[in-house]
Amino acid sequence: MKEGIHPNYQKAVVKCACGNTFETGSTKPELRVEICSKCHPFFTGKQKLVDTAGGRVDKFRKKYGYTGRDE
Ligand SMILES: [Zn+2]
Repeated sequence: MKEGIHPNYQKAVVKCACGNTFETGSTKPELRVEICSKCHPFFTGKQKLVDTAGGRVDKFRKKYGYTGRDE
């Protein structure tokens, strides 16, 4: 614990809609995101998602014009 140095800044677990989780620093203990570097096609170069989030992934696919085609 480093209380008094960064009283509101702590290690946070980020949970992505794709099911990926990773740690970062935040003023909140938990963050939820819909896109991360592991699943964003612009980062991965692949149009492939781990479909663990159901409707949220569908929503993402529609938003980005996905056909749902998997290799
Ligand atoms: Zn993700």
